[in-house]
Amino acid sequence: MHENTGGKVTADHLRRDAYLYVRQSTLYQVANNTESARRQYDLRGRATALGWPAERVVVIDVDQGQSGSSAADRAGFQRLVADVSLGKAGIVLGLECSRLARNNADWHRLLQLCAFNATLICDEDGLYDPCTINDRLLLGLKGAMSEAELHYIRARLQGGILAKAARGELAVRLPVGLVYDAAGQVALDPDAGVRRAVAHLFATFEATGSASAVVKAFARDGLTFPGRHLTGARAGELYWKPLRHDHVLFVLHNPRYAGAFCYGRRRHVSDADGHQRTFAKPAAEWTTLIPGAHPGFISWERFQANQARLGANAPARGQDRRAGPPREGPALLQGLLMCGKCGARMTVGYHTRADGSLVPDYTCQREAIATATPPCQSMCGSGIDAAVAEFVLAALTPMALQAALTVSAELAEQAAAADRLRASHVERAQHAADAARRRYLAVDPANRLVADALEADWNHRLRELADAQDDYNRARVSGSATLSTGQIDRIRALASDLPALWNDPTTPMRERKRLIRLLVTDVTLLKTGQHIRADIRLPGGQQHQLTVPRPRTAREQHSTPASTLAVIDELLAEHPLDEAVTILNGRGLTGGWGRPFSTPSLMALCRNHNIPTLGQRLRAGGMLTTHEIAEQFGVTPQVIGDWRRRGLITGRRVDGRGACLYHPDQKAPTRRGRSPEIVRPGCHAQAITSPTIETSPGGAV
Ligand SMILES: [Zn+2]
Repeated sequence: MHENTGGKVTADHLRRDAYLYVRQSTLYQVANNTESARRQYDLRGRATALGWPAERVVVIDVDQGQSGSSAADRAGFQRLVADVSLGKAGIVLGLECSRLARNNADWHRLLQLCAFNATLICDEDGLYDPCTINDRLLLGLKGAMSEAELHYIRARLQGGILAKAARGELAVRLPVGLVYDAAGQVALDPDAGVRRAVAHLFATFEATGSASAVVKAFARDGLTFPGRHLTGARAGELYWKPLRHDHVLFVLHNPRYAGAFCYGRRRHVSDADGHQRTFAKPAAEWTTLIPGAHPGFISWERFQANQARLGANAPARGQDRRAGPPREGPALLQGLLMCGKCGARMTVGYHTRADGSLVPDYTCQREAIATATPPCQSMCGSGIDAAVAEFVLAALTPMALQAALTVSAELAEQAAAADRLRASHVERAQHAADAARRRYLAVDPANRLVADALEADWNHRLRELADAQDDYNRARVSGSATLSTGQIDRIRALASDLPALWNDPTTPMRERKRLIRLLVTDVTLLKTGQHIRADIRLPGGQQHQLTVPRPRTAREQHSTPASTLAVIDELLAEHPLDEAVTILNGRGLTGGWGRPFSTPSLMALCRNHNIPTLGQRLRAGGMLTTHEIAEQFGVTPQVIGDWRRRGLITGRRVDGRGACLYHPDQKAPTRRGRSPEIVRPGCHAQAITSPTIETSPGGAV
């Protein structure tokens, strides 16, 4: 039996399938609002009444528990749109148009596709043909109202929430360590172990100034951090887990621990795909912030100081970051340095000396890196570190004493806190075991089933107690945190003498850096000529200026002294290189690296310092090479060598290989020693008066 459709359903529609779209917004509705689901599935009957056979009704119900506010993540809706586009659907059925789409854009896309493909739309109120203008207007209006309805529902809910939040009365989930009391007021957790663990976390952060140092301290002391099950059968029950870095940050960033009520710390935006993204808002943009709304673990001022500290620690903060947490490297002033030229923060690098020690280098290079230019200024840090350390130790003795005492007290307090925490674990296990024992004793022994279960529980609790006791004893014996009287005495002895603590080789560099950060705000460095000026700013606002001689560069350290260069210059006026080397080494003179001279090293030195060699000087004075004088006499160079060896002419040896230079005014030897035809007129043999050293086999180097 077909209902009257006003002629909207045609054979063309019936030839295609009917699509029934079923959806509930949330899982809660899926589980509890079954009436709505039943009504939605009943629309199948509507489709058969319109003429579709039951087996041709396609039910799309994969989007259960998905909101209709966007088509993204709704696979069923996307399949519906795809099938309509492909012309497979003769009719689309939904309980209300709102079930199809709560977003106007999605809805109009579907409408347009239905109109293109002559697909009908049917809901509880009626049957629509999107091809006709009246139905299409009506459907458009329904879509707009559906979106508006969603908005009003949300606005009403949000309005209530915001009004309560503005008064600080909105009940939200509290972080571990805080609970709602019987009157609904926020209070500290009644469990002393939980309170101590949270307080210990804050105390450790205050002492170390770094979230990862807190994690390390907890791991080192074998401490765990509490959590409470949020849902399920064990909701509200306490459990203990190793502390993780993200959890430390969660605790440190959470204003509730400072006793402040806050709401709207994050912003949710949906992107073009309809996906929700969450961003943290700056504190100034939080919806509600009421400091002092309830008891907390730290003061609001301490919370703000912690935020500043964490911000400074975060490398990702880039330019805003002033000083990272102290690290292990030997650069004492890491994180405290400012450039005296441009005011930017200076970075720390290291180079290794020949003896294997690391030497810090302080460089102002942020701008240089950004613009690919040479660094603003750069200097070796060892002298500066030593000078600043000496200044701090010498000038601040009373302060130093106090700081050392504080460190000592802090260590003892930390050790005691860790011990109390561990003791509370044992206490808790003891209490659980006692309770299990009482339960077991109270039961009728004849009731075997119950008695067995209670006995097993008691045994389990006893094992837990033994484990807790073992952990406690082990931690006490290992003594990493608990201090013996001897150790306390040693700390006292150290505390009375900060220089001793400072110079103790077992004091880690990280601790020295923490100490210097307590005493110094920052150090501004400026390199001027042969000196480095260090302006030390102290926390009280006082300034001190130190002038440190600039450490000599490697080039300067390994340069040949000027006096040696003068001697070399003097020697080379008279001697070839090999003789100069023998004389220099004989006098015990060395080069920049402290090694004896050799001919190649002396030659290189002469080249670098523009000292002319003997040969260069004689050539400049007009003396001739073998080839030149051979040409002058009209003989071969071999003949010249022969004459020189026979003493017929004199040459001056200028290097270790026997090369000689000749005075141009010499006369060619007389006939006795040569053939007459090669004598040129006007050549005179003349002995030169300057000292002459003849080549000897031992002269070569
Ligand atoms: Zn600079």
